[in-house]
Amino acid sequence: MRIAICPGSFDPVTNGHVDIFERASKLFDVLIIAVFNNPNKKPLFDMEERAELLTLATRHIPNVRIDRFSGLLTEYALQQRSYIIVRGLRALSDFEYEFQRALLIKKIAPMIETVFIMTSSEYSFVSSSGIKELAAFDGPITGLVPTCVEDRINKLMRKT
Ligand code: ADP
Repeated sequence: MRIAICPGSFDPVTNGHVDIFERASKLFDVLIIAVFNNPNKKPLFDMEERAELLTLATRHIPNVRIDRFSGLLTEYALQQRSYIIVRGLRALSDFEYEFQRALLIKKIAPMIETVFIMTSSEYSFVSSSGIKELAAFDGPITGLVPTCVEDRINKLMRKT
């Protein structure tokens, strides 16, 4: 059984992420979407909320499982008996970071392969940080994020 892991902070999940999940889910038997806290990013949603939104946003994909983890990704992957890490690639700016990360993973866990799925052109400009910026200024996010995320952000913004 081919189990792949798609790790990310998903703060929040966007339609760009969902597109990657849909495409990756067709390539593997099980796709584990694993939420972690990126220490370099200040989160808008806590891990539980992010996982909950991911569950809602991927209800239409049958072979997806949502999980959370902390610590080393390679250790988590091996615990899950997964040797495949899926990441999405957008612009050249993603490449440098992803390239380093993939090489580091290869160095510490040579049995794990990182594979990349290229963004779809309609989502190439969509990022969680961009969504947070738009949301902060009450900008339009319709069509860029799943409706459950849109609803949650609208609620959050009305409260503050
Ligand atoms: P991280 O904090 O690890 O970068 P993110 O939640 O920002 O986590 O992103 C998770 C993965 O999804 C990354 O590989 C990122 O490059 C990819 N990704 C984010 N947005 C898009 C998009 N619009 N199209 C394709 N891949 C994307």
